[in-house]
Amino acid sequence: MAELSRQNRIAITVDRALCIGSGDCVDSAPDVFELDSEDKAVVIDADGASTDEVLEAAGNCPVTAIFVVGEVGELYP
Ligand code: SF4
Repeated sequence: MAELSRQNRIAITVDRALCIGSGDCVDSAPDVFELDSEDKAVVIDADGASTDEVLEAAGNCPVTAIFVVGEVGELYP
């Protein structure tokens, strides 16, 4: 199981093959996600926003490329 963040106790992964670089996640949670040099989203800090905000950002991804797990298991999708 992925290591959980210190504060939110979540782990966020982005499927780079799915990500189309739309930037919605960065707009939703700019302290959590950023686009790298290949225009793929990367997680910079899983505690950069509340868990609810992270889940909202994941829900805003047009291709469902963001996966969030917590202590109880899958949180999104
Ligand atoms: S919202 Fe989804 S497709 Fe857009 S940059 Fe973020 S992970 Fe990639």
